[in-house]
Amino acid sequence: MSTLSCIFCKIIAGQAPARIVYRDELVTAFWDAHPQSPVHILVVPNQHLATLNDAASGDEQAMLGRMVLVGRQLAGEQGIDETGYRLLINTGPQAGQTVYHVHLHLLGGRPLRSGLG
Ligand code: 5GP
Ligand code: ZN
Repeated sequence: MSTLSCIFCKIIAGQAPARIVYRDELVTAFWDAHPQSPVHILVVPNQHLATLNDAASGDEQAMLGRMVLVGRQLAGEQGIDETGYRLLINTGPQAGQTVYHVHLHLLGGRPLRSGLG
């Protein structure tokens, strides 16, 4: 999918609405449109990358590290870092990936099932 038709690229470009809670030179974070828990925020790279399988270079190492640290920061801002939260990247059809622009789910605010499969 090209960046022109990617919904997350449109959100990053301000061409589609979203509740954006964080933005820097590498990543943007916004609330999930269909939250699965009281806190459900997506952290996405500003550059289009379809899946984690496309991450290989040194640049992507910095971006992926930033995604995790921003997820941790937002968990603190949402007051769920002590009660617990989950950071999750679905990759490919059997994992349930539906949007092919890499995204880290921040889930929390309620007890989460072990959810490993
Ligand atoms: P996946 O299943 O690919 O890991 O997660 C995709 C997530 O993106 C889902 O939780 C879905 O609710 C969310 N999502 C899909 N389209 C939109 C959208 O247009 N705006 C927002 N904010 N979230 C979306
Ligand atoms: Zn995209």
